[in-house]
Amino acid sequence: MILVAGAGGFIGGHLVADLLRRGHEVRAVDVKAIDEWFQVLSGAETRQLDLRDKDACYEAAAGVRQVFNLAADMGGMGFIEHNKALCMLSVLINTHLLMAARDHGADRYFFSSSACVYAEEKQLAAEVVPLAEPDAYPAMPEDGYGWEKLFSERMCRHFSEDFGLETRVGRYHNVYGPHGTYDGGREKAPAAICRKVIAALLDGTNEIEIWGDGEQTRSFMFIDDCLHGTQLLMESDVSEPLNIGSSRLVTINRLVDIVEDIADTKLQRRYRLDAPQGVRGRNSDNALVQERLGWQPSITLEEGLEETYRWIYDRMSGGAPRGTTRSPRQVVSSG
Ligand code: NAD
Repeated sequence: MILVAGAGGFIGGHLVADLLRRGHEVRAVDVKAIDEWFQVLSGAETRQLDLRDKDACYEAAAGVRQVFNLAADMGGMGFIEHNKALCMLSVLINTHLLMAARDHGADRYFFSSSACVYAEEKQLAAEVVPLAEPDAYPAMPEDGYGWEKLFSERMCRHFSEDFGLETRVGRYHNVYGPHGTYDGGREKAPAAICRKVIAALLDGTNEIEIWGDGEQTRSFMFIDDCLHGTQLLMESDVSEPLNIGSSRLVTINRLVDIVEDIADTKLQRRYRLDAPQGVRGRNSDNALVQERLGWQPSITLEEGLEETYRWIYDRMSGGAPRGTTRSPRQVVSSG
């Protein structure tokens, strides 16, 4: 049995679907009511539990061989800049899940960390030097959310060293795709831009609001690449944190260009310079992940955004409801 914590969310939902496709038994747990999960998969054992609570973690981890911890109170820049305490409370989830995994004798534990662990001073320019794993130290991560991730990474390391629990840590860089948040304040840039372009088309306003001047840069990884990297890392012998992210750097303006091309439109851009923007530039250095796993993401931004756009468009134009599953576009090779 494999536990996926945060299974009602974006990455967790896709991971449950992929593990089931590969024949695993899966326990899927999330704090949200089950009718609010992005994907509810009939083959999984499904439970609603608040994993900040220690007893809930012991219940969730009973009898499991592996734990994937994807549960966190998080969102895009708009959420994490204004909810630092809530983000830091996710430390309870990881702490109690690690204890439960250790005490129930689990073999392996995966923690979903983030590029937000990297020191802000290394991300001041749009033409940023890609972030390599050692750049997380000396530590000065994103306030709130990033500190919790860095602290929890270290707790994984010490659970390995002191208690022999095999832990794996992936530092995700901006993951996007269908079956994720695209409205309500927790959405990230790719989904938010798809939504805004679709709204402009449906309302006929012909205008899009962009946070910042649009020249800030990021890299974006499609969900199928994320699943592949996550599972390769979990099955590997790599116990130090690894970047799981794309190394293709684009400006937010370029992201908007790509979505406009998909939608076959050109919108008037209105820049909101007072909106949360996070660091000026961020990219993933994939030398270490390439060396250790022989892998890095390969799905292009154009391909991934097309699929994401279509999924959001269907929902906004009154199409398929939440909870409908998608067929896989790529089969994870290992395992
Ligand atoms: P998400 O918000 O879609 O999923 C997280 C899930 O965790 C949600 O369904 C939420 O209800 C659940 N959760 C929150 N508190 C909980 C609790 N107390 N008990 C049980 N479940 C709880 O986010 P996601 O994009 O799927 O991210 C998954 C993980 O990957 C998170 O740890 C996140 O920090 C990390 N991450 C994601 C990205 C990204 O771009 N999506 C980037 C870096 C790191």
